[in-house]
Amino acid sequence: MPLHSVSFVPPLCLDNVIEKKSQMSTPILLTPGPLTTSVKTKEAMLIDWGSWDQSFNQLTASVCEDIVQIVNGHPSHVCIPLQGSGTFAVEGALGTLVPRDGKVLVPHNGAYCQRIVRILGYLGREAVVLIHGEDEPANPERIQKALLADPQISHVALVHCETSAGIQNPLHNIAQVVAKENRSLIVDAMSSFAALPIDLSTTPIDALIAASGKCLEGVPGMGFVIARKDKMQAAQGNAHSLALDLHDQWVYMQKTGQWRFTPPTHVVAALRSALDQFHAEGGQAARGARYQENCKTLVAAMRTLGLRTFLSDDVQAPIIVTFHAPDHPNYDFSELYLGVREQGFVLYPGKLTQIETFRVGCIGAIDSKDLFNAVQAIGKTLRALGVSA
Ligand SMILES: *Cc1c(COP(=O)(O)O)cnc(C)c1O
Repeated sequence: MPLHSVSFVPPLCLDNVIEKKSQMSTPILLTPGPLTTSVKTKEAMLIDWGSWDQSFNQLTASVCEDIVQIVNGHPSHVCIPLQGSGTFAVEGALGTLVPRDGKVLVPHNGAYCQRIVRILGYLGREAVVLIHGEDEPANPERIQKALLADPQISHVALVHCETSAGIQNPLHNIAQVVAKENRSLIVDAMSSFAALPIDLSTTPIDALIAASGKCLEGVPGMGFVIARKDKMQAAQGNAHSLALDLHDQWVYMQKTGQWRFTPPTHVVAALRSALDQFHAEGGQAARGARYQENCKTLVAAMRTLGLRTFLSDDVQAPIIVTFHAPDHPNYDFSELYLGVREQGFVLYPGKLTQIETFRVGCIGAIDSKDLFNAVQAIGKTLRALGVSA
């Protein structure tokens, strides 16, 4: 039996099979998206919306309005939603905002930075990679030096929280440097948006990218870009791709209130509900505090099992924590995964290049009790495997 399970019975049971399936306990996802969502958020998906319907257009508009508000972006910034996972929005933002002859500096300390470099390669936009260690925050002085050394660099693409190790990069200080050197800053804030404080009125950022299925605790399927209006206006004709042309999406939406192409209607409805729950919880400060508590509880309990964090506490974001794999011949991640999964929790493999690790997420509709129980499940499994006494 899972130690902790959420069972969800939809009000509309279509047939026995669906009813049986939905009554099965769902595991707690300790992953950085998709993540555990509330029953309310799941229930918001039980209505079918017509994409031409005025009420659906209003839903989209209200979601975009709230998203800009969360980072204090009115009236300088606009929100452009995009169908797809977060990466689609990252690729859409880079392809739309970086002109074809642009050159992008990428401070690099993990896999999501590497993904940006790959995207720029596909787009044929020149990239300059500034390598950091995976346990080292992006360094504002090094970024400034790189910008001074190369006046051709037009943009900086920064990952705010590098979800691969869980490190937090100093967004505000880097934004100051980029603005001082008069370049444009594009930020992948996928795993930090709505959890860590970001204020666009005091931190100069041209575009901020996130998605429905991360710290807003919606379901996956919609990315969004919060971009300076003047930069969007200037971006016509940059995009290499019709489906990922954010300028075209923005212009069409302003004209019609509708999405170009089929919108992810149920995702938008779930996100509306998730935003209402976010506000009711107390907004970014309260959400960040809950994740901080989750992270503290997780790290403390894991340390009592003798497990070590990869990052030092001062650079650890309260989003996802990387742990060194136990140094024991019996240890095997897939065995740990299965043992913990049987007890109702889903872990995440490591994503570092050199050393063996695994990760535990702190985000989603979960609290510190869930994290505490997850660590008990990890301890029990490691003892069963003979990895620890
Ligand atoms: C989740 C995430 C993305 C997007 O990944 P998808 O698999 O496309 O959802 C991008 N950047 C960061 C930092 C992320 O955490």
